[in-house]
Amino acid sequence: MVASIIDGKAVASTLRKSIAEKVAGLGTKPGLAVILVGDDPASHVYVNNKVKATLEVGMRSIERRLPETASTEEIAKVIDELNADKSIHGILLQLPLPKHIDSDPLIQRIAPNKDVDGLTIPNIGKLVAGLDGLVPCTPQGSLLLIKSVKQDLTGLNAVVIGRSLLFGKPMAQLLLAENCTVTTAHSKTKNLADICKEADILVAAVGRAEMVKGEWIKPGAIVIDVGINRMENGKLKGDVDYAGASQVAGAITPVPGGVGPMTIACLLANTLKASGA
Ligand code: NAP
Repeated sequence: MVASIIDGKAVASTLRKSIAEKVAGLGTKPGLAVILVGDDPASHVYVNNKVKATLEVGMRSIERRLPETASTEEIAKVIDELNADKSIHGILLQLPLPKHIDSDPLIQRIAPNKDVDGLTIPNIGKLVAGLDGLVPCTPQGSLLLIKSVKQDLTGLNAVVIGRSLLFGKPMAQLLLAENCTVTTAHSKTKNLADICKEADILVAAVGRAEMVKGEWIKPGAIVIDVGINRMENGKLKGDVDYAGASQVAGAITPVPGGVGPMTIACLLANTLKASGA
């Protein structure tokens, strides 16, 4: 079997188009504020991409840049201002912050109804409780990719490799809410290959290039590769051995062009939702 390729760019583009149509019908422009602290080149690229995508769907984009030397209090003051600003519906604190700053208290300072990254405790709590809230963008996008292949996931075995708060934990919750039987694997998991072989849906979010081998894939499985690993030659590789896995899987995301494009599209979807539209 040769897997079909799940085209994240195409799914993301359709989602962005539908967001743009909804925004055009609103009469007001939802506002997304991005806070960028310091000079991390990758963060600057990510923020520029987010600003561009925000403007493209007809929303307002506000950038608040602070120097590398900014203090926790200075960043907190910006968050407080944006929390109070009625024209701002979404606030995103670009991570990582400079090393001298503890990011968690600042993330938790963001008003939960503007927390478009879905990382505040109230939004995490809502996800676990099955209540409507703002869901982290990359797992939300990954679920949309899975559902672009198969609508009803009831009873399927899903394995998520990785248990970060940003991805693995919310991904597992989303799959549980879809009535999957979910296993979360991590660095202490034993017999990972055997666990993966049982997965109808396999989601890898580790950060180790080509760790998941083709022999680990159940024939016909849906494979979502979240990993982004930059190789010495500058190319990007996922956490899954794509060449091997695509011979066995039913459907698989490429890296790049799979999960990556969904993250920004879901950020825009969260901003629209946060605006009350
Ligand atoms: P993270 O916080 O570093 O978490 C990595 C997880 O992998 C941890 O739970 C860790 O287990 C687990 N792990 C490490 N080694 C393992 C092993 N040998 N076997 C099984 N599990 C192992 O990373 P993250 O933020 O979740 O991101 C994961 C990957 O996804 C990264 O490559 C990141 O760049 C990518 N990512 C992509 C997007 C996107 O937009 N496409 C968004 C977010 C993340 P322990 O908990 O036991 O340490």
